[in-house]
Amino acid sequence: MSTAEIRKFLTDRLARLEERVRAACTRSGRARMDVTLVAVTKTVGPTAATILTELGVLDLGESRPQELWRKAESLPPAVRWHLVGHLQRNKIERTLRRVSMIHSVDSVRLLEAIESEAAIQGRSIEVLLEVNASRESNKTGFSPADTLSLARNLANLRHVHVRGLMTMAAQTENPTEARPTFAELRTLRDRLQLEAGDAVKLDQLSMGMTNDFEVAIEEGATLIRVGTALFEGIPGGGQA
Ligand SMILES: *Cc1c(COP(=O)(O)O)cnc(C)c1O
Repeated sequence: MSTAEIRKFLTDRLARLEERVRAACTRSGRARMDVTLVAVTKTVGPTAATILTELGVLDLGESRPQELWRKAESLPPAVRWHLVGHLQRNKIERTLRRVSMIHSVDSVRLLEAIESEAAIQGRSIEVLLEVNASRESNKTGFSPADTLSLARNLANLRHVHVRGLMTMAAQTENPTEARPTFAELRTLRDRLQLEAGDAVKLDQLSMGMTNDFEVAIEEGATLIRVGTALFEGIPGGGQA
């Protein structure tokens, strides 16, 4: 397996994915530039991730903080790293030094701990509140009611900019079954924006993965998190 083979594979996968993203945008009357593809690189090594950046995908996501740190060391500094999985509080410091956006803020304690560390580091950080919109008991995230109860606090955060909401739909055979979950996340965002006021700008919705990103785009996703559709079957298993 050579990097040329990996490049060819990823060029082809990206083109096919891009075609589907564009079609979903067209169907729903949205501009392609209003939807950001976050390539979730958790199943591949730094070589494949680097090739993807050379093909123009600069928004990369990881679900585990340690893996994000590891890849960030060897990838170009232009990459915008997105943490899409759970963040333990003892990993905030190192993660904040690397990441552009944290999609997975799932508790008030975590939100406050990120605010404190961002103040120490003298930086601002964009985050999303993870919502358990599908109400599965095995999932992390705020309930819709708890999300709304945060509205008044958002404008008081000085270093953390809450930019919107993130969710994962239940895994189903039929992606249209995810539609109510995505529609609910958008409605919840709209209500939260009304209650939070103009000092915060909740313009981001992170929803949609390989199985359901087209439905998510139709329901207003601004960030889609895609791994499998890009990397499944990659030459060499993607370990390089
Ligand atoms: C792995 C992962 C993705 C990507 O999922 P695919 O189905 O492989 O596209 C998206 N979001 C989160 C939080 C993930 O952990």
